[in-house]
Amino acid sequence: MTGPPPAGWAVAPETAGAREIVPGLWRLRLPTGWPGIDHVNAYAIDRAQGDGIVLVDCGTAGDPSCVAALEVALEAAGGRTLEDVRLLVATHAHSDHIGTAPVVVARGGAELWAHPDSTHFTAAFREPERIAAARERRARREGVPEARLEAYRTTREEQEGVLDLVTPGRALRDGDVVDSALGPWEVLETPGHCPSHVCLVQRERRLLLAGDLLCAAFVPWLDYGCSPDPVAEALASLDRVEGLGEITHALPGHGRPITDVPATIALTRAGFARRLDATRAAVAQGPAGAYAIATRMFGEEDDIEATGHLTEVLGYLRHLRLRGEVVRDRADDDDTYIYRGGS
Ligand SMILES: [Zn+2]
Ligand SMILES: [Zn+2]
Repeated sequence: MTGPPPAGWAVAPETAGAREIVPGLWRLRLPTGWPGIDHVNAYAIDRAQGDGIVLVDCGTAGDPSCVAALEVALEAAGGRTLEDVRLLVATHAHSDHIGTAPVVVARGGAELWAHPDSTHFTAAFREPERIAAARERRARREGVPEARLEAYRTTREEQEGVLDLVTPGRALRDGDVVDSALGPWEVLETPGHCPSHVCLVQRERRLLLAGDLLCAAFVPWLDYGCSPDPVAEALASLDRVEGLGEITHALPGHGRPITDVPATIALTRAGFARRLDATRAAVAQGPAGAYAIATRMFGEEDDIEATGHLTEVLGYLRHLRLRGEVVRDRADDDDTYIYRGGS
């Protein structure tokens, strides 16, 4: 995701749990070590003819207790085990959603199906030195102070948060179908949060597996530098979900099932509009680097908050630059970027 890892990855497995959303579909609530993100959801869906389950996402790794928590949640979901998993589907390549994938596919003999545009995450795992150097160059250009560079360059989160990378058995694309006892789930490419993000819709039952596109609270994350305009992509993905018509349950990667989907989409759009306004206002205070602009918006923060917010603010600045509202110049005396209001 970019940024330092949590202070510790260990979780209390007994705090994992499961709840049946509709017959044959379970929400697995998996604890995480992240400050402010105390859990991530995975979903277990029955396959036809009692042939095991489809697991959608599988939680973070980083400590053996994370796999133990997944096992506790599966047991709570009608006595399932990792051996019951016939297919693992990833909503997107972030450590909290694919961390334990190697164990899941090994134990159940499952395939992983995932969107192929995953280098936004996998590059830091495969080539940590190259990506750390690139992150440091970017942090310097955006005005991150010398004393903080380590937090902005590290690839520890990507390296520690997954057990390993699993090569997908199928590259998921728009319109692909995942079969289940509840009927077919159709894949929707929904980038913005990150390029590899997909949702799955079960049209007859009006169910949506929403990944990190939707959450009952507005907690945005935008991977920056991997696609042309993450904000526009996120807004277009919300339009796509809205275009599905009525959804009775949107099942997010974090938080409880969402039953008022139009209200949550409206809240998410309003949240982005507010943050874009806050970015415009911060730029209007005078030409500055992105780090300074993020500090104007969010104040002094710890490393995890600050790295996440810089990534997000770079997404807003990029969006506003593409619309001519913000201009990016190169400083005269060094290599840093300075942002100012457009004419
Ligand atoms: Zn995510
Ligand atoms: Zn997530």
